[in-house]
Amino acid sequence: MTMAGGSAGNSLDQTEIRFLVEKNADGILVVDEEGVVLFANPAAADIFGRPHRSLVGTPIGVPVTAGETAEIAIHQPGGRQLEAEVRVVETVWGHRPARLASLRDISARKAIEERLSHAAKMEAVGRLTAGIAHDFNNLLTVVLGNLESAQRKLLVDQPAVSSALENAARGARRAAGLTHRLLAFARRKPLEPRIIDVNGLMSGMTDLLQRTLGEGIRVLTLPSPELWLVDIDPTELEAAILNLAVNARDAMPSGGELRVETQNLDFDSDTALSLDLEPGPHVAISVIDSGLGMTADVLRHVFEPFFTTKGGRGTGLGLSQVYGFATQSGGGVAVRSHPGSGTTVTIYLPRAGAEQTVVPDSPTRTTVPPRSKDGETILVIEDDEDVRAYTAGSLRELGYTIFEAADAASALEIVAREPAIRLIFTDLGLPGGVDGKTLSEQARLLRPSLAVLITTAYAAGALIHDGKLDRGIDLLVKPFAFEALAARIREVLDRPQSNAAEVRILVVEDEVLIRMFLVQTLQELGCQVEEAGSAAEAVDRMRASANRISGAIVDLGLPDRPGDALIREMRLLRPDLPVVLATGHADRSTRERLASLGAMQVLEKPFNGSDIEAAFARLGLALPRDGTTATPR
Ligand code: ADP
Ligand code: MG
Repeated sequence: MTMAGGSAGNSLDQTEIRFLVEKNADGILVVDEEGVVLFANPAAADIFGRPHRSLVGTPIGVPVTAGETAEIAIHQPGGRQLEAEVRVVETVWGHRPARLASLRDISARKAIEERLSHAAKMEAVGRLTAGIAHDFNNLLTVVLGNLESAQRKLLVDQPAVSSALENAARGARRAAGLTHRLLAFARRKPLEPRIIDVNGLMSGMTDLLQRTLGEGIRVLTLPSPELWLVDIDPTELEAAILNLAVNARDAMPSGGELRVETQNLDFDSDTALSLDLEPGPHVAISVIDSGLGMTADVLRHVFEPFFTTKGGRGTGLGLSQVYGFATQSGGGVAVRSHPGSGTTVTIYLPRAGAEQTVVPDSPTRTTVPPRSKDGETILVIEDDEDVRAYTAGSLRELGYTIFEAADAASALEIVAREPAIRLIFTDLGLPGGVDGKTLSEQARLLRPSLAVLITTAYAAGALIHDGKLDRGIDLLVKPFAFEALAARIREVLDRPQSNAAEVRILVVEDEVLIRMFLVQTLQELGCQVEEAGSAAEAVDRMRASANRISGAIVDLGLPDRPGDALIREMRLLRPDLPVVLATGHADRSTRERLASLGAMQVLEKPFNGSDIEAAFARLGLALPRDGTTATPR
């Protein structure tokens, strides 16, 4: 090979050698036996972060014996630290023995390696967590479902048993809350994303934040104008911001300042890579505190579930929720912190498609109690004045028109006089010898279409025969919460008047305990039930009686094929079949795949009888409810 220009072959002249040394990307360093630098090229000066002049003549330890390759950390004068790979060979320099070291900056490669291994660790922990949460959800469905069923059957006065059941149910509900947080970390929580304006969401939270943080901490929100929209689950974003605020509070025991800022950011591929994000436009939400900050060691572990430095006071699930939510939403999260100088946590969420507009809250997504539709008229009969005032007040607040009575006689007068009354809400125990049940029978003689809801602290005697609540009676157990009242009233008013037709539900679930629970619950809701333990069995059942089946509950994880594949097959036989898909975790892509199926509701485990009923109701299928309809608080 001949080189163009200069000297030919292997012999280089002085200028060429100098050129190669000066321009070499690797650092070249010659040190004498005491470690004093005899020669350094510009790249070596860069790696040490020092001007060439100050490097030559000063001692620098090269902690490597000749012939070895090693990785060392170099602390530059400005505080920057970088990682370098060093190879050393023995040499002679100016007739004296010396060592020649070549240095390569490998910080970038190291950072990528660390990120990858961190990502792999989070992935592994995530899989483990999701598995545990999934199994626990199934078990909790059985536990909660049966506790609920036991509570329903226990309408006689047995306060000790009833409170034991309630305590057990409370524990199980807390466990369900925990599995949901685990699913959030594992990025398996069924999210309900919609287009939202983060500034709007934030301004709705300012009061809550200030209350949570207390008076010693000043809360500032700095919304950026013209903020882009994002397509995320607002409930989870609120939870994330709240988790960050609580952490900030804990880090500022003697007060301070919390800032919540938003910003539009458009990332090029390098910046995106360094933040583990996709390149492109993002909305950044930063929560900044002036608290204690974190050491590098704490910082490395903050996203791991159950990592906490707060001993028994912390759960270690706050930042793991933030992490799970942000990554599951297609974004990410970054924490910047130093001991003593506060902490900034930034959530990055990808910008929603530019053509999108904000979707207002749909009523099924909120926990807002259902209101009156057109000011329906209700008669409240209650002898206790305080209770009556509270009940009437609550119902007026919900938009209903209210009449009030303190006993059966005056109630009947009002029913006879006011044709607008659609429902009577009556206490069971009334003065004057006529109780709420008899009153409702007499009122129905006057107006057969009248809806009735009875309330009582315990439904003894009058309502119970053969250990069962009488047919056709709707009961709301006292004391009832406002939401329960609102929901129950709405339910009774919205129920179709006659439900003589048979409702036959096909249950497809391979887990025997869950199938038993579903069958029992559906039977209690007045349905006929058919069972299948696999997709193949389900298809057989459908073939045999497709036209008699009114709806189906299908588990997503069946042994022989995925639930959604089964649903497609069922749809071939019955295109309009209302189907409820039961699942422990439906991630976004599953949801999107399912969305195309139509006439379908996803039910997240654990669920109870009312959830099943509500899911079918949303599909337009009303379950008969076998008379007994007590709603425990
Ligand atoms: P928990 O708050 O229950 O401990 P988190 O997952 O929310 O769990 O946080 C994990 C740990 O991260 C905390 O125990 C704390 O050491 C650290 N941390 C989180 N946020 C902050 C903050 N704003 N300032 C200082 N340390 C924090
Ligand atoms: Mg926390």
